Amino acid sequence: MTEPRRGQKFPLRLDALGATSKIARTPSPAPALVKAAPAKVAVVVPRALLRPQRPLAHAHTDSSHRATPSGLGLDSADVRKRMVMRLRAAGLTNEAVLQAMASVPRHLFVDAALVTQAYEDTSLPIGHGQTISKPSVVARMIELLMGGATARRTQRLGRVLEIGTGCGYQAAVLGLLGEQVFSIERLKPLHDKARDLLGTTRPANLRLVYGDGMRGHPPNAPYDSIIAAAGGDALPQAWLDQLAIGGRLVSPVRQAGGNRQVLVVVDRTERGYEHSVNEVVNFVPLKSGLIE
Ligand code: SAH
Repeated sequence: MTEPRRGQKFPLRLDALGATSKIARTPSPAPALVKAAPAKVAVVVPRALLRPQRPLAHAHTDSSHRATPSGLGLDSADVRKRMVMRLRAAGLTNEAVLQAMASVPRHLFVDAALVTQAYEDTSLPIGHGQTISKPSVVARMIELLMGGATARRTQRLGRVLEIGTGCGYQAAVLGLLGEQVFSIERLKPLHDKARDLLGTTRPANLRLVYGDGMRGHPPNAPYDSIIAAAGGDALPQAWLDQLAIGGRLVSPVRQAGGNRQVLVVVDRTERGYEHSVNEVVNFVPLKSGLIE
């Protein structure tokens, strides 16, 4: 149910894009895992589909062609229902994910000047050069995560590690779908902001961690689900090590020798690691070290 079907407009899969595209799904040892994968993918992506996230600099220009939620007010559940209807129309199908997104008030996570865009399918600046991910990308990534063995068995994401809390929106959605969620952020001001924004509505199973997510978060490993909201040139070994057997990892990774990022899904099985390369995305860079 959670896997994309052929012929859908969205989610966009590389194998839906033409004869040269291919999803690699081969058992492979952990260290060589991702560096090897992108080389197999040669895809011409239709221009209209190549907008999974808006570059930060374009976020403000989006306001010129926005569909302002009208009449009902942003705190109305109807505004979110309409967002979810648009996500369904775009091909997202996982009911648990859609229900979770229908219940988290995204407008509370964006700056006051941008609230009218809170339920549009756009990323928005959240300060410190970072963005809140666009709803369809959040839904798509969590939908992929829900396709992992643990989630298929339990209908829940199990113990989750999110790298890149940002303002905490996706963490709040994950909190509704996981048993325990650990969300880590390297920028102290954003970690603090997420703590403030989540406030008393923070689910009891969601823990915010200030730290360098490149190292994962060893104290609570292993994780059934790992999801990264920032992408580097390869997956950090720590994430692979901290993934439980039966667990799944979803992350953007820059393709070798190119400028494009793709969504990579890694399953850890008894036999090792299996991975697939999915659609092109545009996440902020994964960086190491802490900023106070
Ligand atoms: N999850 C957010 C998206 C935040 S943008 C949402 O709900 O929309 C990605 C975040 O990843 C940024 O805040 C950035 O600071 C953070 N990030 C980048 N590298 C990191 C690292 N090594 N450890 C933790 N966070 C990191």
